[in-house]
Amino acid sequence: MNAMTSGSVAGRGPGVQLVYDFADGDRGMVDLLGGKGANLAEMTRLGLPVPPGFTVTTEACQHYLLRGEEPQPLRLQVTMALRRLENLLGRRLGDVQDPLLVSVRSGAKFSMPGMMETVLNVGLNDYSVKGLADAVGDERFAWDSYRRLIQMFGRTVLDISSELFESALESAKVRAGADTDVELPAAVLRELVDEFKGIVLEQTGRQFPQDPREQLDLAMRAVFASWNTDRARLYRRRERIRNDLGTAVNVCAMVFGNLGDSSGTGVCFTRDPATGRPGLYGDYLVNAQGEDVVAGIRNTLSLEDFAHLNAAAHTELTRIARRLETHYRDLCDIEFTVERGKLWMLQTRVGKRTAAAAFRIATQLVDEKVITNDEALTRVSGQQLAQLMFPQFDADAPRTRLTLAMGASPGAAVGKVVFDSATATAWAARGEDVLLCRRETNPDDLAGMIAAAGVLTTRGGKTSHAAVVARGMGRTCVCGAEEIDIDAQARKLRVGDVVVAEGDVLSIDGSTGEVFAGRIPVVPSPVATYLERGLDVALESADAETADLVGSVDQLLRHADRTRLLGVRANADTAEDAARARHLGAEGIGLCRTEHMFLGDRRVLVERLILADTPASRDAALAELLPLQRADFTTLLREMDGLPTTIRLLDPPLHEFLPDRTELAVEVALARAAGEVDPAREVLLTAVERLHESNPMLGLRGVRLALMVPGLFAMQAQAVAEAAAARLQDGGRPLVEIMVPLVGSVMELHLIRDEIDGVITDVADRTGADLSIPIGTMIELPRAALTAHRIAEVAEFFSFGTNDLTQTTWGFSRDDVEAALFATYLDKGVFTVSPFESLDRDGVGTLVRMAVTAGREAKPDLKVGVCGEHGGDPDSVHFFHEIGLDYVSCSPFRVPVARLEAGRAALIAETGAGAS
Ligand code: ADP
Ligand code: MG
Ligand code: MG
Repeated sequence: MNAMTSGSVAGRGPGVQLVYDFADGDRGMVDLLGGKGANLAEMTRLGLPVPPGFTVTTEACQHYLLRGEEPQPLRLQVTMALRRLENLLGRRLGDVQDPLLVSVRSGAKFSMPGMMETVLNVGLNDYSVKGLADAVGDERFAWDSYRRLIQMFGRTVLDISSELFESALESAKVRAGADTDVELPAAVLRELVDEFKGIVLEQTGRQFPQDPREQLDLAMRAVFASWNTDRARLYRRRERIRNDLGTAVNVCAMVFGNLGDSSGTGVCFTRDPATGRPGLYGDYLVNAQGEDVVAGIRNTLSLEDFAHLNAAAHTELTRIARRLETHYRDLCDIEFTVERGKLWMLQTRVGKRTAAAAFRIATQLVDEKVITNDEALTRVSGQQLAQLMFPQFDADAPRTRLTLAMGASPGAAVGKVVFDSATATAWAARGEDVLLCRRETNPDDLAGMIAAAGVLTTRGGKTSHAAVVARGMGRTCVCGAEEIDIDAQARKLRVGDVVVAEGDVLSIDGSTGEVFAGRIPVVPSPVATYLERGLDVALESADAETADLVGSVDQLLRHADRTRLLGVRANADTAEDAARARHLGAEGIGLCRTEHMFLGDRRVLVERLILADTPASRDAALAELLPLQRADFTTLLREMDGLPTTIRLLDPPLHEFLPDRTELAVEVALARAAGEVDPAREVLLTAVERLHESNPMLGLRGVRLALMVPGLFAMQAQAVAEAAAARLQDGGRPLVEIMVPLVGSVMELHLIRDEIDGVITDVADRTGADLSIPIGTMIELPRAALTAHRIAEVAEFFSFGTNDLTQTTWGFSRDDVEAALFATYLDKGVFTVSPFESLDRDGVGTLVRMAVTAGREAKPDLKVGVCGEHGGDPDSVHFFHEIGLDYVSCSPFRVPVARLEAGRAALIAETGAGAS
């Protein structure tokens, strides 16, 4: 970086080409030409009707950003390119007779809102406006184009508030009695131009630049500089786009959609990007230029109407759309303009689409033999599948939309509006569905967020506290609804002139960010029905579009199953969960937690175990728990017959099964004061106090607890072994595995194995059953990962508990930091995604990778899986595939997501394509 001579670009010497004609580029040059420029070049290369022009490279921008000035050769190269353009068209930029006009358009590698938009009609001034009027024979048009130039230039290049121009335009409309801008006559537009020029002078102290080349240079520089606006930086940080890429600038000869009724401008998609329905989909606006379509200033026409207006142009558009689709092999998004009947292409790119459209379009393209099933699979994502699985508002139900904000955490939630956490918890406790509505949330709102069916905030974006926490707990959330005014004191909110009081019902859609008045019925999504109940049930009542969607999901999910190398299991604690997981495609249970088997009615038995003061009384308590556990496991193994089922022995600290310390202390104190001492409660309080821990996450739990309470794990192992024996006796195929939690040292595992192995041998001897029960361990402490080579000698399998491993690697207590710290950390860029949501590859991932390698070195047939929630997170699944795990295990409803992503991981790793 140090030896750059003046005029060189990024150290590449003075001869660097900084300007490319559209005719000289192609879509492979996206790094240099940006997305828009590369695609304009590609369309030019294909012989499509693109107005000619040239692109200034991202390298020129990088130079400008580093040095604060354009690279020295740029000026000459632009002059030459402009000369070529002028010669090609036979017109000069800003000439007084028949002037060439150009647009100056930003265009980075990744499309990026927040950067400078486009300036159209560059080259117009007080003289060329007359030349333009004469050349096209339309004075109104010429003045309209000029006022647009000053307006756009003023706003984007000179940084003048757009409201000044807009209000001038509004009053001109009032003066002229015009409803829309097209009704403004030439004379009024001319006055408006004078007014606009006055605004420029007043705001900048300078005249609106009359020199066409100066207009061009200033506009290009403004594009460069817009790379570093706060909005653009913020966007890049969120989207993880590198800061040093820079943007290209496209200079493109103008074509005019505002030349009367035979002209217009439009946008279209080669298929419907919302539903995936085949056929062109778009909007057309007669007698309009550029941004008018999306600005929504007048009502647009459908493409069918466009076909009636101009059949030839519509036919050509259809033909080009098909051409682009086969060329790009994907849905394309197109901008076009019609100038006096002739079609011009102004932009194309691979189009964004909804989750449903992604699945449908991918399989349509397979059917049309444009892409293969493998490619189709890479075109959809687990996140999209997850979105399709959320319950939805009934599409047929009537609705009144109050506002559109940001969908921060998907789902459809209906509930009574409440304005504080306490009310949310209170109302939810009496069985009401509530929506917690806050300006923004903070850690104090956590209880309310847990209690609520959904969360609605009026401030903050997708990394706000509300958004992060809601996503973390799978709660539906809409955030940043700025049109809503909340008056928490008065317990009401206001949207426009609608007032919603506490207790009134609203419906929010966390996928789209919509907020609706009243209650909209919620229905299971057809994709969820398919996944849980099969294709036939899902198709029973489906219309053609829905059937097509379900068919697409089925096709791609089955392809993923054929393709993937990772096994997919579920975390399920009960037979019902297990059944659900099986329907959703789980190939086993990777984690069955046993703590729920100690709750409810059985809590008293656990109390007895804890309070036991002799080995005999402890054995008696354990003996009572044994048959209950055995029955639990027998049912579970029946449900999972023939599939591996990993049972994790008790993990949490014992005090979790005891009454709350404070409440019990108060109760006992009151009893003492009243002279009614209850000896049993007194003993219990002593136990609770003895077991109290200031940091239970790092306390007496897992294998440590087992070593302190002899017989506990042995009882569980006996229940497992007897259940397996019983199943064998019934002709079943139990494939049960026992997993020991929180091991940090191989000695701990040795000690426990000695105990468990003995029990299993006893059961086998006693029942005559041929029991083979693999025993493995969780790897959820850094020390376990660091000593994996030792631990592997004693374990038949490893299962990474990535939640605890994340907590202990970062030193985070999840319950404490997630609400208190994460919104800030995300905002400040400490991480781009919560390490509990997506595995921290650099830190936690390194431990996992090390442990896999060391474990397999010590024991080549060691089976390795993961049972943290990360097992269902798309990005983490790709990581687990890369490091060669045998399986992932996640909650049942994430199983389809993991299946899909595991299939994609196998393909993407193979082809080396990017993961996102
Ligand atoms: P964005 O990236 O915001 O879409 P564009 O550079 O594509 O910005 O331009 C904004 C609008 O101006 C689009 O509708 C585009 O079609 C139109 N436009 C751009 N260049 C020209 C041109 N040379 N002639 C006519 N319209 C143009
Ligand atoms: Mg565009
Ligand atoms: Mg754990």
